[in-house]
Amino acid sequence: MKDLLVVGSIHTQDPARPLAEAVLVSGGKIACVGAEAECARRAGEGALRIRAGSVVPGLVDAHGHVQGLGRARREVSCTGASSAEACARRTAERARSVPPGSWIRGGGWDQNRWPGAAFPDEATLTRAVPDHPAVLSRVDGHAAWVNARALAAAGIRPGTPDPPGGKILRGAGGRPTGVLVDAAQELVFAKIPAATPAETEEEILAGLRELVSLGLTEVHDASVPPGALDVYRRLAEADRLPIRVYAMIDGEVPLPALEAELARWKGKGEAGRLTVRAVKLFADGALGSRGAALFEDYADDPGNLGLLLSTPDALRAKVRAVVAAGFQPAVHAIGDRAVSEVLSALEAAGDLRAARPRIEHLQIVRPREVARLAASGAIASMQPVHATSDGPWVAARLGAGTERYRGAYAWRTVLRAGVPLAFGSDFPVEEADPRAGIADAEERTPRGGTPFTPEERISRTEAIAAFTRGAAFAAFAEGRRGVVREGMDADLTAFGGELLRASPAELRALPVTHVIVGGRVEWGAGGR
Ligand SMILES: [Zn+2]
Repeated sequence: MKDLLVVGSIHTQDPARPLAEAVLVSGGKIACVGAEAECARRAGEGALRIRAGSVVPGLVDAHGHVQGLGRARREVSCTGASSAEACARRTAERARSVPPGSWIRGGGWDQNRWPGAAFPDEATLTRAVPDHPAVLSRVDGHAAWVNARALAAAGIRPGTPDPPGGKILRGAGGRPTGVLVDAAQELVFAKIPAATPAETEEEILAGLRELVSLGLTEVHDASVPPGALDVYRRLAEADRLPIRVYAMIDGEVPLPALEAELARWKGKGEAGRLTVRAVKLFADGALGSRGAALFEDYADDPGNLGLLLSTPDALRAKVRAVVAAGFQPAVHAIGDRAVSEVLSALEAAGDLRAARPRIEHLQIVRPREVARLAASGAIASMQPVHATSDGPWVAARLGAGTERYRGAYAWRTVLRAGVPLAFGSDFPVEEADPRAGIADAEERTPRGGTPFTPEERISRTEAIAAFTRGAAFAAFAEGRRGVVREGMDADLTAFGGELLRASPAELRALPVTHVIVGGRVEWGAGGR
């Protein structure tokens, strides 16, 4: 591998030297950070020279779903559909090219964008797609809209009871309306044939290729089932991963199965660009589908507190098992009651600072529990894009001006309390673009709206830190990545303009010119 000399405004995220003119990459590591002449003098013969507008440490998405992203590109997309009928029409179009009886999958719908904001009905989808079982995930993945064939395949009838942690929405006479919330989705998902290893590999690589094109050098894959972990390991051993992957083992299995999976990976979690050392657990659902667990009723659904997906005892037992096996617990918690339950589970497990537990999303924290959060040693793994995409309806769910509304997406509060902050996007639920994430953190403004609790905005430099240093800390990699410093892994993201001086609108469109992972150009001129 030839040396690389990258010249531009190097924003290092290193407090000792925040700005430099050049960085020299040699043998996959950073060999010089400083003046251009100095780094050029130390470059080896035939070094490749890259002139960039600005450069930051490689951007990391600390929470996304890689296979889901790759699959979403092959599925029906109802993103932007203006009505249930429009979404059903798109599904019918796809069904035309698929043999009758085969499953049609899709997602991206959001009833909040539709006339009346009501959940859709199976009849609309059944009329459009009568001959294929069809299942369309809600934009947040916490509800599914299915047609009559899919209900029949899953055996869901008027008398079918709600499974624990889930809800079958019903109409007159108990008729299932075709919307399955949280754990009830599994009744249908369990009937869909699993992806083959070849399909899994294709979906993972498609997802990773899209991520590198957006400027990402690493992703934390938030919940990977055993088969996909094996695919990751094969790809890593063959050096076919375009970016680094920090994989979280899927913890939503019975405890004995989880313990077996942990035993399988213990001491074997590092292979090339792959690290397997975290476990994804769930405390609740999501706010959009009113599945996030709140202390008080949803402001727009009296009597509904959302759902805790497991009992406090079961969550504690899993956290304890994960920590005992030497892994990092990463627990999805969105509502204030779920966040509180996770804190109780962490406290019950003793001093977890060394295990670096993560709370994924952490969307609503009661102000009175911020100090408890800081004392727990937990990392806040948050997604700035949620504040802008949820912004249009979050006041309706929580009640504008309430204490819990002020505790929503509270990045400034989290930073002020000294809680380590890592940023991601939760793709494919949201766009994976880190430029949009940085701009959203700074603006907190839903498209065409007004800023949402603007006192929780953070600066561009703080947002970049959460996508670099913060994400590195969340993956136990702060000694190797997250800042541009001599001796560190040469992971760099280069832009065609000045990242810190661009307006937020310019930042969203700033071209990514080079993505360098371990000293190799994975995106842009000079790549493999
Ligand atoms: Zn997620």
